[in-house]
Amino acid sequence: MDSSSLQQNITKIDYKEKSWKRLVKESLTKAEEIAELTNQPVELIEKVVKVFPARINPYYFSLIESENDPIWRQCIPDIKELSPIGFVDPLNEEACKHGCVVHRYPTKCLFLASNQCASYCRFCTRKRRVGDLKKKITKEEIKEGIDYIKSNKQIKDVLISGGDPLMLSTQKLKKLIEKLIEIEHVSILRVGSRVPCTLPQRIIQDKRLQRMFEEFSQIKPIYLNTHFNHPREITEEAKKACFALANAGIPLGNQSVLLKGVNDDYNTMLELNEKLLTIKVKPYYVYFPDLVIGTEHFRVRVEKGMEIINKMRGRTTGFAIPTLVIDAPGGLGKTPVIKDNILSINDKEVVMRSYSGKIFSYPQPLEVS
Ligand SMILES: *Cc1c(COP(=O)(O)O)cnc(C)c1O
Ligand code: SF4
Repeated sequence: MDSSSLQQNITKIDYKEKSWKRLVKESLTKAEEIAELTNQPVELIEKVVKVFPARINPYYFSLIESENDPIWRQCIPDIKELSPIGFVDPLNEEACKHGCVVHRYPTKCLFLASNQCASYCRFCTRKRRVGDLKKKITKEEIKEGIDYIKSNKQIKDVLISGGDPLMLSTQKLKKLIEKLIEIEHVSILRVGSRVPCTLPQRIIQDKRLQRMFEEFSQIKPIYLNTHFNHPREITEEAKKACFALANAGIPLGNQSVLLKGVNDDYNTMLELNEKLLTIKVKPYYVYFPDLVIGTEHFRVRVEKGMEIINKMRGRTTGFAIPTLVIDAPGGLGKTPVIKDNILSINDKEVVMRSYSGKIFSYPQPLEVS
């Protein structure tokens, strides 16, 4: 599509002055509207969104500048998602669930609080769950999760994730944090949310949410890990949202995913991580994509990822350098990609030692990149 008609379509959907709830409501979800605005064949988009739902809110859509650019690739459905390569649940999370809690490491757990997001990422690890109304997290699962944490005294760190927990109403989120914070053996809480990136209005406009964080963080520390993948996502709005959280006493980190055609080059990664520091966000992890079905086209060679991140050392502030990790297939856990962990590496696979000493293989992408 020529860039001027795309530009016209982008400016047609206005996001300014709108409430965040309205932005969610006015998100592009239907194949016809996405196809029309992006000038793609509707049959193709239809086929993809039937399997993996779409949601692109007007703010995030407005960040697109041209067809197939780094923002487009993250949110516009792509026929390549129908490739059969990959696994539905590559980290084997369903096997270690107790209600909505995924408990893999002895002292910390994931608490899946919502299966909604402000925008659905085409490369999502939890593609199997997010956005599907039939897979909403139930009250019973939440209760079971809380009871599970209560009865497991070794859990010190609860990571509230999803989907996106900031898609819950402030009231619901408040009740949830209240319950978790009062569990004595839980010493820190973490929130994993892409909202500062994909819908910063949710945070900027909601003073009650900001006050809530301010009050809770007096009781126990609440960290928030967000998810920016490209420097163009770091806008004035994103900055306001992150500053508001930081002012409420929430230390901020970032987890990005190394994605082909989005951020798989040195300059983009460097700019992204340096820019994050200017909005008070400390780069935490960069993940290689999990082996999720429908995301093979995003994968990057292991050596290339290492080259990008290693090159940053000495060339920027150490504070800007995230840890490069592979979340080991099958659920063996997050493993930093550093030479000591690598047993062998070739065109087909990298064989690594996980934190617990177990050996695993992570395949290279099929296409040479
Ligand atoms: C990522 C993850 C955590 C948190 O891991 P950190 O390395 O401490 O950030 C906890 N539980 C599960 C199941 C995870 O996938
Ligand atoms: S915001 Fe996170 S959970 Fe939601 S679709 Fe994107 S990657 Fe998946």
